[in-house]
Amino acid sequence: MSVASIKLPTIQVPPHPQWPDLTPDEVAALKNKISAQLQAQDAVLVAHYYTDANLQSLAEETGGCVADSLEMARFGAAQDAQTLVVCGVRFMGETAKILNPEKRVIMPDLNATCSLDEGCPAEQFSAFCDAHPEHRVVVYANTSAEVKARSDWVVTSGIALPIVKYLAQRGEKILWAPDRHLGSYVQRVTGAEMIFWPGSCVVHEEFKSVALERTRRLHPDAAVLVHPESPQNVIDQADVVGSTTALIKAVAEMDNQEFIVATDGGIFYKMQQMAPNKVLIEAPTAGEGATCVSCAHCPWMGMNSLQNLSEVLESDSNEIHIDSAVRERAVVPIQRMLDFAAEHGIGMQNKGNA
Ligand code: SF4
Repeated sequence: MSVASIKLPTIQVPPHPQWPDLTPDEVAALKNKISAQLQAQDAVLVAHYYTDANLQSLAEETGGCVADSLEMARFGAAQDAQTLVVCGVRFMGETAKILNPEKRVIMPDLNATCSLDEGCPAEQFSAFCDAHPEHRVVVYANTSAEVKARSDWVVTSGIALPIVKYLAQRGEKILWAPDRHLGSYVQRVTGAEMIFWPGSCVVHEEFKSVALERTRRLHPDAAVLVHPESPQNVIDQADVVGSTTALIKAVAEMDNQEFIVATDGGIFYKMQQMAPNKVLIEAPTAGEGATCVSCAHCPWMGMNSLQNLSEVLESDSNEIHIDSAVRERAVVPIQRMLDFAAEHGIGMQNKGNA
């Protein structure tokens, strides 16, 4: 099975959810209610940087964690709490369950998926791996438990470069999935011999290089921060390419006063918190007619809100379950990544960065 013969499934991108506007008093009341629910259920909140700002601040206020997917996995595994409430997309809840089979893992909306995960069906992916047995299989965290179970390594964008570099130095050839843009960025930086599953993220795919050039001309002193899931001609214009954690760090540490940011706009909450006086500008996307109707906002991340979080805690629903045989296989490449991170001190500065 060649890369050219892979037929990706058509992905239905939902409209960005429209949650009713809440007054500050309503937000405070809901947060109080959820805090009490979390306490009563021995639960901790683990939220991704792309989720709603109210959820991120609630996670911080209740002793939870706001982080990228690597830190979310690590934080969840280190908790004594019996329940992990994962605000993010489905693969993040699955990863938490894979690492913590004895814990209850729930999510505000189990339909919150990811175009990378949806675009890499396990059966087809497995056939692709079977056709290339001489390759090490390295999959991005944005995949189903079944795809992880078929892999040798799981990586996040925060750790992909050092792991692929390590494998390349050992002379390994790599089969990479599912994000072709991130994969080709990793290949350019590491020089590794790689073949790619041809998936992409509907959010990052929409960042447009010509419009970005125009925005840079309007803001000549701004630094350009780009997530490596973006197309190469956008990455080529970046001052910093990196994971969500790396981009937040850049805003806090660089001398520039303005930043053009090419990743999901949810990240602005943490950036603004780290550097309140700096100006953040969303990188241009294809706009309303784009594949991703929400432009720089992931529609699946948008399915997480205070409202449905409270409902799920009340109704005791939306628990993640994973087949035990799949879990036993999937935990191996995830644990390999976490062990590699611990051994090389990668990302530890952000541990539990609430
Ligand atoms: S932003 Fe892209 S990679 Fe992230 S969850 Fe949404 S679709 Fe997936």
